[in-house]
Amino acid sequence: MLIAVALLVASGWEVGVAKRSITPQQALWMAGYASRTGPATGTESELNARVFALRDGGKTRAVAVALDLVGIDAGLTARVKKRLFDRHGLSEAEVVLACSHTHCGPVVGSTLRSMYPLDDGLRERSRAYADYLIDQIDAATKEALGRWTPCSLSWHMGECGFAVNRRANKEAEVPAIKAAGKPLAGPVDHRVPVLAARSTDGRVLGLLFGYACHATTLSFDRWCADYPGFASTSLEGLYPGATCLFLAGCGADQNPLPRRTVALAKGYGEELAQSVAKAVAKPGLAMPKGLAVSLKSVALPLAAAPTPADLEQQASGKDKYLANRARTLLADLKTGQPLRTDYPFPVQAWRIGNLNLVFLGGEVVVDYSLRLAKEIPEPAWVASYCNDVMAYIPSQRVLKEGGYEGATSMIYYGLPASWREDVERILVGSVLERVRQLNQSTAGQ
Ligand SMILES: [Zn+2]
Repeated sequence: MLIAVALLVASGWEVGVAKRSITPQQALWMAGYASRTGPATGTESELNARVFALRDGGKTRAVAVALDLVGIDAGLTARVKKRLFDRHGLSEAEVVLACSHTHCGPVVGSTLRSMYPLDDGLRERSRAYADYLIDQIDAATKEALGRWTPCSLSWHMGECGFAVNRRANKEAEVPAIKAAGKPLAGPVDHRVPVLAARSTDGRVLGLLFGYACHATTLSFDRWCADYPGFASTSLEGLYPGATCLFLAGCGADQNPLPRRTVALAKGYGEELAQSVAKAVAKPGLAMPKGLAVSLKSVALPLAAAPTPADLEQQASGKDKYLANRARTLLADLKTGQPLRTDYPFPVQAWRIGNLNLVFLGGEVVVDYSLRLAKEIPEPAWVASYCNDVMAYIPSQRVLKEGGYEGATSMIYYGLPASWREDVERILVGSVLERVRQLNQSTAGQ
């Protein structure tokens, strides 16, 4: 026992964790669905900002901030990161803002800007909420950075089966197919990656865990962190004193099915928590000392934009979302802002011991998860919905097929056109380059 303790202390890692509520105190508009007709009416479960900070004795720190929000835009991320730099000296690459993509959180910033009918009062409340959010993230980060505790780090992999490919299966048919024990169609990624920080006496102090599936069990009018929140809360009950952060994977074409009841959301949360606990109960892969961080943006190309004449036509058309987007883009043009031909997409990567942890912006479809699992050296983990959720990111296959994730969701996100056909090649190339450079920089550490 004494030898084991000595080895754990010698790992050189320290962790600091904290949690703060980010549940809105006012009736704000809810994010994620265009069909809502009024602001939130109450709270089903608390929305939280959870922080997991790591250091290994060197200068670099890595601070993961998990947010129960549908997404975050580049402008708000820049404000949060500036605050964390000013107050705590953290660089942009040392901090990741990871959204759970719950569809029962507030509208914040400009994410999905063409989707919501906000009047001036609601816009003002949304702006005030962004200030509150930044304060809460700052406070949680300060708390985590004041609680450094020696720890060991271990890597584990679980499995959980509720994510269903929503492009390949009709929602109404899923319960019968499941009940008959028949296979569902389409690619899925049911892996549950976990990074566990344990104290020198073996207690779980904090966890990062992931799953590639939309947090869309619920669509009602109450604040709720959906299945990721229920999973985190369940794990925090299982490991008293621990803070457990959910990192949404590349599950933009995956839904938890069947859905639409609180009981189902709780059930999926519990199922995911159990798969995490089962994975953590087995010996994992110990992570040696060594921490490196990197953040770069890659220009992801968009297809040809509509002409001003096209936009004028759309602006007076019957499709109100298309008209909303057209009016916004025309207003941009009038102020001299040209339509985008590409988008600066954030690719962040951390090397934690031997683990390659990649954080992508946007809503990334599962094809990337499956492809990058083969192409990034193991152990590897790719999260999505980080730093800037500006659009869906289809693979070449999904882009060709079209549909919501391939094409029409761009209208709600306010971008002028679909991605260009080489988007997958460029994004995968950029991710592999990030990982390769990090591996070179830590070689021999
Ligand atoms: Zn989504």
